[in-house]
Amino acid sequence: MGYAHYTLSDGREAGYGVEAICDKEGCDTEIDRGLGYLCGENPDGWRSEEEYGCGNYYCGSHQPDHECPSQGCGKFDPTGNLSCHRPAGHDGEHRDPDGSGFTETEEGEE
Ligand SMILES: [Zn+2]
Ligand SMILES: [Zn+2]
Ligand SMILES: [Zn+2]
Repeated sequence: MGYAHYTLSDGREAGYGVEAICDKEGCDTEIDRGLGYLCGENPDGWRSEEEYGCGNYYCGSHQPDHECPSQGCGKFDPTGNLSCHRPAGHDGEHRDPDGSGFTETEEGEE
């Protein structure tokens, strides 16, 4: 797949060459549909079940703050070098996008 311009499984145009506005309702911040604005690591159609992300594109303020049906786990390993990109609430070990697994960090006091 090319990254500048491609078509999503739902027919939307995407890629960093595609100008768009934030997918958050009521927000008209101009963005592009590159991976930097995507919620998730991979767009719809290329995302595996093991990855978080709703496949929409958000500006910097709404990317971490939208009603996401598939939020990331977001836990870090104790070194802070790995972060989990599996969906929140997943079973088993946490996993970095490069496939490195790790288990829970210092936070465990719930
Ligand atoms: Zn926005
Ligand atoms: Zn999302
Ligand atoms: Zn995790």
